[in-house]
Amino acid sequence: MATQTGALRTLALSAGEIDVPLIEYGIGEAVARAATLWPSEDALVSCHEGIRLTFGELDRRVSQLAAGLRKLGLNRGDRVAVWAPTCAAWTLLQFATARAGLVFVTFNTAYRRVELEHVLNLSGARAIVMAPGFKDIDYAAELAGIDAPELEFRVWLGDVPPSGYLAFTELPSSDLTWLDGVAPDACEPVNIQFTSGTTGRPKGVTLTHRNILNNGADVGRRAGIGSGDRVCVPVPLYHCFGMVMANLACIASGATMVYPAPGFDAEASLAAIEAERCTHCYGVPTMFIAMLSALDRQDRDLASLRGGIMAGTTCPVEVMRRVMDRMHMRDVTIAYGMTETSPVSTQTSANDPISVRVETVGQVMPHIEIKIVDGLGETVARGTQGELCTRGYSVMAGYWNDPDATAKAVDRDGFMHSGDLAVMDEAGYVRITGRAKDMIIRGGENISPREIEEYLYRHAEIVDVAVIGVPDQQFGEIVCAWVVTAAGSTIDADQIRAFCRGQLAHYKVPAIVRLVDQLPMTASGKVQKFVMRQAMAAEEAL
Ligand code: AMP
Repeated sequence: MATQTGALRTLALSAGEIDVPLIEYGIGEAVARAATLWPSEDALVSCHEGIRLTFGELDRRVSQLAAGLRKLGLNRGDRVAVWAPTCAAWTLLQFATARAGLVFVTFNTAYRRVELEHVLNLSGARAIVMAPGFKDIDYAAELAGIDAPELEFRVWLGDVPPSGYLAFTELPSSDLTWLDGVAPDACEPVNIQFTSGTTGRPKGVTLTHRNILNNGADVGRRAGIGSGDRVCVPVPLYHCFGMVMANLACIASGATMVYPAPGFDAEASLAAIEAERCTHCYGVPTMFIAMLSALDRQDRDLASLRGGIMAGTTCPVEVMRRVMDRMHMRDVTIAYGMTETSPVSTQTSANDPISVRVETVGQVMPHIEIKIVDGLGETVARGTQGELCTRGYSVMAGYWNDPDATAKAVDRDGFMHSGDLAVMDEAGYVRITGRAKDMIIRGGENISPREIEEYLYRHAEIVDVAVIGVPDQQFGEIVCAWVVTAAGSTIDADQIRAFCRGQLAHYKVPAIVRLVDQLPMTASGKVQKFVMRQAMAAEEAL
C-alpha cells in the first residue's frame, strides 16, 4: 500500500499513496455534494431523539441554520462553541458553521466551571450553543458564574430557554440570501478542539476544512465504508473520532451516521446496531469491552455488522479478536493518530493479514508522510524504537493563539512530533510501543497530569503533588495522585477527591489518592514518576 523508494527501505519513514487526489473544497460544499449524489438516502439517524434525515433534508437544514447564524450577526472567522451531548443539532451545527465560514469550537461534555472558563476565553467564542446539561451537570449553572467578556450569544438546545438565552429552534432562517458571497476557503480554520497535549491546560487545536474533510474521507475509505453503509457512532462527537472519523467519513462516502444515545451506552449501542442494521461500529477499547459484556447478558442480532474502527489508545489483541468474532466485525480496522493531525496518521486495512490487523496500527495514510526519530531527530532504522512524527495536509494549522506551543510541537520541516514511541517494520506497519509524553489515557479521554497537579496546588493544605496513570482493567488507565499535605493538616484522600469533584471533569478526579511524606525526587529536584509507577505496580501485585 504505502510507497517507498528502494533507497529508503531500511529507514523508518514512509509516504502514503497519492492515487486519489485531496479534496480542495470546504465542508459546506461536501454536504451539498452529498445531497446531490444521495438525495434520499439516510444521512443521519438519532435513535434517542427519533430523528431521521436524508442527505437532501440534512443539506436544507444546514443551509437554513447557516443563514440563521449569519443573520444573528456572526461573521466569517467568528467562533461558535457547542457544549452538548450527541444529538442531531450538534451535527447540523458542525456543518452549518462550516457553510457559514465560522469556526466551530467543540467542548467536552464533562467540562466543569474551571475548564469551561479556560476554553471559552482561550477560543474567544462569540456564541455558545448548549444543552441544558449532561448526566449530573447543569450547564447553565456552570456557565452562570463565568467571566467570558467575548461571549455575546447563548443559545439553548432544550425546550424553554432560560432568560438571556435564545432558542435553537428560532435560529434557522429560510432567507438564504444571508449566505450570498459566503464561500469559505478549504484552508481556513473550521474547528477548534481542545486537547491536553503533552502538558498543562487544554490547548486549542486549530483545524481547517482541508485538514479534517480529507482525513475523514480517507479514514472512511480505508475502513471500507461506502454509500449504503450505516455507521454506529457511540464515540463522542466533540472528539475527532466522532466529528471527523464518523461524521465527515459519512458525508464524504454517502454512509449513514447512526447515533445510539447522548453519551456512551453499551446497551443502547447494541440496540441501535440491531434496529438500524448497522454495518460498522466505532469505539475506544473500553467501549467495545462494555459492549462485549453487555452481549453476554443479552444476546443481540448483530449479523448486519461487518467492520468498524477501534482507536484512541492501545487496542488489546484479545479485544480485537472478540470484536471480530462475537460482534461479526471481521473487517474492523485500527486507527492511530492525534487531534493535532486531524487525527489519523496510520490505519490498518481489511486486506491486511489478521495478525497485522490485531497487533499493529497499520500503515501510513494517503498523502501523508510519517517517520520515526531518535532523541537527536535522526530517522531511525526500521525495527528500532523512536518518536513518531507526521507531515502533510493533516497537520493542524496550529494551537489557537499559542505560537510558542505550536513551534514546540511542529518542527521547521512541518513534522508534528507526537510524543508517542513507535516501531516501523519492513513492510511499513507501525506498532505503538509507549508514550514519551506524560499523558494519561482513561477510557479514551486524554488527561494531562499537569492540569490536575496545578488544580490540586490551589488547595491551601496541599504542598506537593504528582499525578500518574496506573493500569486498569476497565479503563486502560486511571488517575492516581500522590499528595504531600502541610504539617498539621488533617485532610484525607476522600476530602481531596471531593475538592476535585464538580470542579474538574469527572474522569480527571483521581481514582487513587495516596498521602505521602515526600515525593520521590532526583538530585536536581525532578519528581521520579517511574518510582511512583513501580510502587503502585508492586502494591497491585500484592
Ligand atoms: P487525541 O489527541 O485525543 O486523539 O489523543 C492522541 C493520542 O492517543 C496519541 O498521541 C496516542 O498516544 C493515543 N492513541 C491514539 N490512537 C492510538 C492507538 N491506536 N494505539 C495507541 N495509542 C493511540
